Amino acid sequence: MVQDFDALILGAGAAGLMCAIEAGKRGRRVAILERSERPGKKILISGGGRCNFTNIHTSPENFISSNPHFAKSALARYTPADFMALVEKHDIPYHEKTLGQLFCDRSAQDILGMLEKEYGESGAQLFVNVAIQEVTHTTEFVVRTAETEFHAPVLVVATGGLSIPKMGATGLGYDLARQFGLAIREPRPALVPLLFGMEDCGRYIDLAGVSAEVIASCDGQSFGEKMLVTHRGLSGPAILQISSYWKKPQSLIIDLAPGQKVTTELVESNVPRNIASLRAAMQTILPNRLANRWLDNHVPSGWTNSALEAVERQIHEWAVTPVGTEGYGKAEVTAGGVDTDELSAKTMESRKVPRLFFIGEVVDVTGQLGGYNFQWAWASGACAGRAL
Ligand SMILES: Cc1cc2nc3c(=O)[nH]c(=O)nc-3n(C[C@H](O)[C@H](O)[C@H](O)COP(=O)(O)OP(=O)(O)OC[C@H]3O[C@@H](n4cnc5c(N)ncnc54)[C@H](O)[C@@H]3O)c2cc1C
Repeated sequence: MVQDFDALILGAGAAGLMCAIEAGKRGRRVAILERSERPGKKILISGGGRCNFTNIHTSPENFISSNPHFAKSALARYTPADFMALVEKHDIPYHEKTLGQLFCDRSAQDILGMLEKEYGESGAQLFVNVAIQEVTHTTEFVVRTAETEFHAPVLVVATGGLSIPKMGATGLGYDLARQFGLAIREPRPALVPLLFGMEDCGRYIDLAGVSAEVIASCDGQSFGEKMLVTHRGLSGPAILQISSYWKKPQSLIIDLAPGQKVTTELVESNVPRNIASLRAAMQTILPNRLANRWLDNHVPSGWTNSALEAVERQIHEWAVTPVGTEGYGKAEVTAGGVDTDELSAKTMESRKVPRLFFIGEVVDVTGQLGGYNFQWAWASGACAGRAL
């Protein structure tokens, strides 16, 4: 069976659905082809089930890309306020949790329901359980499945990254980019827990569940948030954020007492200069178990002023060298992807292959933690949708 459309969108995630809505509104006959049994599965699990759907402080600095300027145009054309207006039009209650992060009051289903209603009204047709066998391009694009050939002059690839394969992630977007001769920046797991080496495993993993406010730094970036010890390494927002910048074999520098001086009393008052005093001082800042264990593994070389200075420095510059990440199974996003040099920043259209578009996570634009990845999906999807 052959079905003709004005545009085919591969993937019914955040970016694909937004693109369909905008294109449908402009009267395009759109088909969205989705591999899973339903659209927007990642939206439903996002933000702990409440979907951190945008961040009111979104700016290009919140994104990682080999071209830091690329995202500017799309982010300016479709802003957090645009998405909030849509959410408000549908009377969806939401709140700012922290640092500009907007979450649904009730559940992520509200956001998916809103998108489903919008694309339904725009006339876009969703096909689920679609197993794409082949994509070709002659005078138009042809997407072949076992039963159907979908034809259209426009193809939009919105198949996301490789994170969470059990939610339906595949490498189809990257395969298509290669097939059409577009360069790819090596994909890698991002916003992902990091793994301790053998030695640190032996030292710390029985503290799994303990957390502390730290500043984690690497590669010129720093994030002050919570760090969590896990059964295999480190996680928590500070570590997830810095993981997107970390590359093996770099070390992370962790400040265990941000903005505080731990040894002041030992240096300046009559408190005895010994391990008990230092433990007591550290326990005022860190959970007792972490303070004790860290000191067991960083025994001061002495109690002179310079030895205490060295301890103070170490507390603020704990160097941890992860051996790897938890991988795509636990990564919130995939960094890298279709090289931005290949795409128009205004429309997401390929420079080499006219009427071929890439949007969302499959592109080499990755947001920090905090609603930025959805904002990129909405913005890139809307820009492409308006250009179809
Ligand atoms: C656990 C978790 C929580 C998250 N929470 C947040 C959050 O709160 N805020 C935030 O901003 N970001 C969050 N993210 C990131 C965010 O979900 C993604 O960045 C965003 O969904 C990317 O949108 P996308 O449309 O590009 O890709 P996706 O949403 O991944 O959609 C891609 C779609 O393409 C389909 N597909 C894949 N391969 C094929 C194929 N071969 N054929 C047909 N269809 C295919 C997939 O099934 C999927 O439906 C979270 C991610 C995870 C994993």
